[in-house]
Amino acid sequence: MASTSMVGEKGKAPAIGIDLGTTYSCVAVWEHGAVEIIANDQGNRTTPSCVAFTKNDQRLVGDAAKNQAPVNANNTIFDAKRLIGRSFNDESVLKDMGLWPFKVVACFGSNNEKKPMIVVNYKGQEKEFSAEEISAMILSKMKETAEAYLGTNVKDAVITVPAYFNTLQRQATKDAGIIAGLNVLRIINEPTAAAFAYCLDKKASGRKNVMVFDLGGGTFDVSLVVIEKESFEVKSVNGDTHLGGEDIDNNMVSHFVEEFKRKYRKDIKKNHKAMGRLRAACEVAKRNLSTTSSTLIELDCLFDGIDFSSCMTRARFEKLNMELFKKCIDITEKCLMGANMRKNEVHEVVLVGGSSRIPKIQQMLQDFFGGKKLNKSINPDEAVAYGDAAHAAMLSGMENNEFVLTDVTPLSLGIENSNAELSVLIPRNTPIPTKKEKLFHTVKKNQSEVLFSVYEGERITARDNNLLGSFELSGVPPASKRKSCIDINVCFEVDSDGILKCDAQELSTLKNSGMTVSYHSGRLSREEIGKMIKVAEKLNYEDDQKRRKAKAKNDMENYAHEKRRLLRCDADKIGKKDRRKVEDAIQQTLQWLDWNVLTEASKFEDKMLELQSICDPIIAQMQLHRDDARVNKTAQRVEIIDSD
Ligand code: ADP
Ligand code: MG
Repeated sequence: MASTSMVGEKGKAPAIGIDLGTTYSCVAVWEHGAVEIIANDQGNRTTPSCVAFTKNDQRLVGDAAKNQAPVNANNTIFDAKRLIGRSFNDESVLKDMGLWPFKVVACFGSNNEKKPMIVVNYKGQEKEFSAEEISAMILSKMKETAEAYLGTNVKDAVITVPAYFNTLQRQATKDAGIIAGLNVLRIINEPTAAAFAYCLDKKASGRKNVMVFDLGGGTFDVSLVVIEKESFEVKSVNGDTHLGGEDIDNNMVSHFVEEFKRKYRKDIKKNHKAMGRLRAACEVAKRNLSTTSSTLIELDCLFDGIDFSSCMTRARFEKLNMELFKKCIDITEKCLMGANMRKNEVHEVVLVGGSSRIPKIQQMLQDFFGGKKLNKSINPDEAVAYGDAAHAAMLSGMENNEFVLTDVTPLSLGIENSNAELSVLIPRNTPIPTKKEKLFHTVKKNQSEVLFSVYEGERITARDNNLLGSFELSGVPPASKRKSCIDINVCFEVDSDGILKCDAQELSTLKNSGMTVSYHSGRLSREEIGKMIKVAEKLNYEDDQKRRKAKAKNDMENYAHEKRRLLRCDADKIGKKDRRKVEDAIQQTLQWLDWNVLTEASKFEDKMLELQSICDPIIAQMQLHRDDARVNKTAQRVEIIDSD
């Protein structure tokens, strides 16, 4: 497991902050006393959380993957965050699968739980990747972006997750970081990071109650944070891990699918390419509607040769999505209730996440807070990464800000008791890290085994909540005659990353401490993570080779053509023999290139060195002659002027 003990030493690469979003990711670093949001190789400050496997054996991550999505829909993976840490049978996974153009299958994990695996066609074979592995590819890309900017290798990172992510989703995100070769210093909540960014931005004076409203692509999070001097306390969190811009896009897509059906009596749903193009057009239309009152969708040859065009007004768009918008307000209200606070006690409402730009949402939120002006002072796309980077700097000792940050558990955690009810050990909104113990008794006579089912949620009946996993305590001794039952102490511990660990201990044989049973869940086993790291390293190596090869080939072609051009310009400044020698070497190299397209990078680099060793001295000589000739010419001109 990652260790944080060595960070912050002089000369060590800085720790970075990564906002691993459902749709877009962002990376930032603390530098010279401020946060720098790092642009990727395309110059963009956010990178699509998208991975693609192309027909010509390439693996693409980020903008390149998103750009080719409409023509390679089945092998372009997005929304991995909607799968991470979830079971294949999860209701939301089953629902999402119907909308994704890529294939998801079930695989039995180490604990016999059904894990969703994404199927792609890569190098002519079907390959399966877990959501952790796809997320690791995105994290690797963000790591590389930071490394290119900083000019050094990066290891330590703070990664954010939605506040509403449960322990399995958090652990899986941490595993993704490990697969990407990162040392995950801390997993923090997205709205907490955004509130942190706000607080650095504003340096709040006095006590301030700040509501962070974060509506992104796939998730919705609200947090109520109390900021006072250097203390930063999350009072309540609420949200929905399945509510965001993509659901809005889905509503628009369904609307146009119906319209197409009505107009042309054809169903485009089964055609992945058409659906992919329609989805991309809907996302653009949605963005346009944040600034205009109506927008056009025009797609040539969308399906069966039919050109599709339609109009979407802002009013219709709002009607289509009203249910989702209302849900956001309901959740905001619940968050307020969780903090035991009235609306007028909130000093600031901070907007975060791309979808918080939607005017109707802003209006509804403003109305909810009695017309209070919303705070848009921080960039909604970058706020989370900004807070992450500042937090990473603080954790690694690069920054001396003495903030005390207290986060909370989003949901109550407990076990099912003999009445099938949820017996809560850690109530929701408990500050973390935390450790709680509770005493339980066996109910049956001579019961030698006890099964503990761990749930999260607020419902009374245990099974109405979300099952996180279960563990068994076996070898329980029979109760003595005096006492009819056996006492078992159950301990729940949530660490600073929000990850839960459970233990149970039978008390009569305390000496025998081997009875402690660790929590089991759908998380990856150590061996599985090890295997995934190897696969990731292999893929990264292959990508690196491909990049190196493309660069070497390109450099060689450019070099050869440039030298040939120079040679032709100044042919008279060079002897015939030398000219022939360079011409031949260039010609041979270009021919070699045509015949050796599949050769590995190092051969290209060797060949380049060989060509340079022939060309460079002769060309340098030639340029020297040319420069001498120029000097002579200038001198002559000066003489003429002088003589005049
Ligand atoms: P995440 O963190 O979940 O990846 P982001 O905060 O990056 O999400 O927000 C991405 C979402 O915001 C996408 O669904 C995108 O379509 C939406 N979005 C971005 N800009 C706008 C806009 N101007 N109007 C409406 N939605 C927008
Ligand atoms: Mg986000």
